[in-house]
This record gives sequence, C-alpha cells and structure tokens, in this order.
Amino acid sequence: MNKLTSSYSPVHVIGGGLAGSEAAWQIAEAGVPVILHEMRAVRGTDAHKTDSLAELVCSNSFRSDDATSNAVGVLHAEMRLAGSIIMRCADLNQVPAGGALAVDREGFAEAVSAAIAAHPLITVLREEIRGLPPKEWDLAIIATGPLTAPDLADAIRAETGADALAFFDAIAPIVHADTIDMDICWHQSRYDKVGPGGTGKDYINCPLTQEEYNAFVDALIAGDKTGFKEWEGTPYFDGCLPIEVMAERGRETLRHGPMKPMGLTNAHNPSVKPYAVVQLRQDNALGTLYNMVGFQTKLKYGAQGEVFRMIPGLEKAEFARLGGLHRNTYINSPTLLDQSLTLKSRAGLRFAGQITGCEGYVESASIGLLAGRFAAAERKGASPAIPPVTTAFGALLNHITGGHIVSDDEPGKRSFQPMNVNFGLFPPLDPGALTRPEGAKRFRGKEKASAKKQAMASRALSDCATWLDKNLLIGGAATR
Ligand SMILES: Cc1cc2nc3c(=O)[nH]c(=O)nc-3n(C[C@H](O)[C@H](O)[C@H](O)COP(=O)(O)OP(=O)(O)OC[C@H]3O[C@@H](n4cnc5c(N)ncnc54)[C@H](O)[C@@H]3O)c2cc1C
Repeated sequence: MNKLTSSYSPVHVIGGGLAGSEAAWQIAEAGVPVILHEMRAVRGTDAHKTDSLAELVCSNSFRSDDATSNAVGVLHAEMRLAGSIIMRCADLNQVPAGGALAVDREGFAEAVSAAIAAHPLITVLREEIRGLPPKEWDLAIIATGPLTAPDLADAIRAETGADALAFFDAIAPIVHADTIDMDICWHQSRYDKVGPGGTGKDYINCPLTQEEYNAFVDALIAGDKTGFKEWEGTPYFDGCLPIEVMAERGRETLRHGPMKPMGLTNAHNPSVKPYAVVQLRQDNALGTLYNMVGFQTKLKYGAQGEVFRMIPGLEKAEFARLGGLHRNTYINSPTLLDQSLTLKSRAGLRFAGQITGCEGYVESASIGLLAGRFAAAERKGASPAIPPVTTAFGALLNHITGGHIVSDDEPGKRSFQPMNVNFGLFPPLDPGALTRPEGAKRFRGKEKASAKKQAMASRALSDCATWLDKNLLIGGAATR
C-alpha cells in the first residue's frame, strides 16, 4: 500500500510489541508519520515464537474486564476511550473467560499486525536497532520490552549508568496498608533511626513468637515454587536471595537477615521481645502501599497468599503485587524519566512499555499509548497533556515517573520494581466521598472496600473522559 506523505517528519518507535504497536498507532492517528523498527524476522527473542507484532509471550489473558471495581478493568476502559488498537483487536478476538478478557492469541497478533501494516502513516522496518537512536531521529520511543536485544541494552546502560538498568527484577510482595492489622503491628524504624526525611516510625513491624517463626520457616520451605526458564539462568546474588532459599540455608538464617528483631520494641507488648520481626516499608508517596522488606520470592502466587498470611498482622492482608524474580530488562524510571516519559538526559527520547517498570500486557500497552500521544503532541508543537493521577493512566504513569518513593536508609539499593496497575496507586478518595448506601445495615469490611473500589473506578473513568475531551487526538496533515 502507498503510504501517505505528511508535513511532519516521522517519530521513530523501536520495538513492535504491545507498547510499540500502540504507540505507533496513537502517533499515526494524530496525523504524524511513524517508522516502527521491529527486529523479529531478523533476530528473535528467547520468549517470542512468531514475527507478528504484539505477540503475547505467555498467557492469553488481559485479566479482569470489570471496569466498575477492578483497576485493570478500569485501564481497559480508559484505553478503549482513547482509541487503543490493542484493545480494539483484543475485543475482536475475545474468547470465553468469565469476567476476564482473554483472546485468541494468533488472531489478536495478526489483527494488530494487519492494522499497523494498513495504516497509511506507519512504515514497519524489520531490523535490529543496535544503539541509541541517532540524533537525526529527533523524536523516538524505545519500547523494546523485557527482552531488549543486548547491544541496545548496553547502549541504554552506557547512557543511563550501570545501576539504572536492571536485567532481573527481584520483587517483594506489596500489601495494601489498610489491610494490615495495626492492633498487632506497630510503626517503628529499627533503633528509632530518623534518617534523612524519616520520622523514626517509618516501618510497619509484624512480631513473631518462636513457635510462629518455626511454623513460618517450615511453610516457606514446603511451599510450591516456580523454576527459572532455561534461558533465564539463575540470577542469585547475595543481596537478593529469594526468602525461601535463605530459609533453606538454615533455620536461623532469616532471623539474622530480613526477619531480625533487633532494635525493635513491640508497642503493644513492650516487655516481650519478639523472636523475629517482618518489616514493611512505605512504597508509594501516597502511603497506601507497603512492601515486605527483603521478601523477594519464587513461591507460586497461591502459596505466597497462604504462607505470608501466616505472619501475625497480615492474616487479612490484600496484596497489590505478589513477589517474583524474573528475567526483565527495565530502567530506573523514577530517576531517569520526566512526567512525559522522556529521558531527562536526552530531549526527544522516550521509553514505553515494560522497560519503564510497569508489568503486564495491558499496562505495557497503556504506557505505549501515553508515550505515543506525548510524542505526537511534541511533534505538533504542543505540550504533552499528562493524565490526572486519579485515572488509571495517570496512576500508573505516576508510579513510573515519581509516585514510588526511594528508601533513604538503604542508600544505593534500588527499590523500584515493576508493578501492575492496582487501586493502591490511586490517590485516596476525598473525605466524605463514601457514604453508607441507603437501607444498608452494615457499611464496613468487605462492603466498604467494594464501595471504595467502585468510587475510585467511577472517578477514574469520569476524569479520563474529561482529560480526553480536552486533549483530542485530532488528525493533522493526513486523512484516510
Ligand atoms: C517470559 C515472559 C512471560 C510473560 N508473561 C506475561 C503474561 O502472561 N501476562 C502479562 O500480562 N505479562 C507477561 N509478561 C510481561 C509483559 O507484559 C510482556 O513482556 C509484554 O509483552 C511487554 O510489552 P512490551 O511492548 O513492553 O515488550 P514486548 O511485547 O516484548 O515488545 C518488545 C519488542 O521489541 C523488540 N525488540 C527488542 N529489542 C529490539 C531491538 N534492539 N531492535 C528492534 N526491536 C527490538 C522485540 O522483538 C519485541 O517485539 C511476560 C514477560 C516475559 C519476559
């Protein structure tokens, strides 16, 4: 097909996965030409099996499609409102999966590939990009994903600094703060250290007796674990051993490591020294999420729920993210990127997708969608419009570019880890926004939690519609 010419020079997108395909589509729909560089067909990855754009490398599920009370469902709905090609092709290739949106993976990837190939403003080049985009590509997006080819990864590392590019994530579970039982746990930093920017009460502490500790260690060792894929290797180094590997090294190992009780006094029972303590540290600026310090793990998700809820105070914990350890190339976005996903050290160069530190197909595509819109706006001489943090788009973007807080008491230690979208990333509701439904006898516990999710979802969709109304992607020089 003949491609249309446009008065704008092209934006280059590197990587035609979930994020790159969506970014290319959004840019082209804004009337700006795109050159999409995808290496598959010339060079494969360890996980992709085809040459199709937007190939799903593992599961065929986009997770919950419930936009009334599930954060990823809200993200689906916002993407549909924003004209997402990924969501359009997912909807067209849906297969039955209860409340989830699952797709026929081949039909989905072929539909995305066909739509991109047919777009008059998109040119796809099958080639590996081996270095940072040349300066003459003044606007570019790197969306090369968790398996970015090594030469480009090296070039990114040279630009950002070695510590700013990780090749594995080491994820500790994150808990919604309001599900921790503070009648059992207490706030205190070890030895009450205030540290820079701290209060001396920065951690939430969960106390264990000797009996509870032993039962916990036994359950950790017995719990079902996932293995590494052959091509992943085993990336253990002593700073980030999985918690169960530490437990296997000796019954007392954890008590001298992440579960050490020293410097902590149980505020509910000061005269009894806990045998071991699990610490949780504030994870986001909003204070709604806490991560379990040192608890990176290869336990299967089901086992994590069971084993971690054995910890006193976490019996009813809800997890915003479960732990893991995977091969994953991603940058330290909170320090490297500005709000519009541009590398601070290099104007015009954006990152999108999983390489920015989001996690999941839908999240990767949504960050591609935003990067595409921001680049198109910049090409047209406008300022990128940042979505409000009350939307799923804005909450995820904020986590990547600034919402995550870096711990002061472990200088040099990287704490930013990939994250799925979840309601813990959204700002709390305004006081009084939740009222007891008329006629309801009870309004606490599950009913209240569910009302809260519904109110956050409806606030997000309404704010997203307003943001999109104000920032229409109107086609420029080209029409079809
Ligand atoms: C093994 C594995 C399994 C996963 N399973 C799931 C799952 O089940 N569910 C889920 O939600 N998420 C899963 N993820 C996480 C994530 O959602 C996906 O990896 C997702 O595809 C990320 O989207 P992306 O666009 O950022 O990267 P990708 O979809 O991987 O796209 C990146 C593209 O860039 C290309 N590329 C790389 N380097 C270059 C280069 N130098 N030049 C040109 N092109 C290049 C690649 O070929 C690829 O097409 C998984 C990740 C991995 C690694």
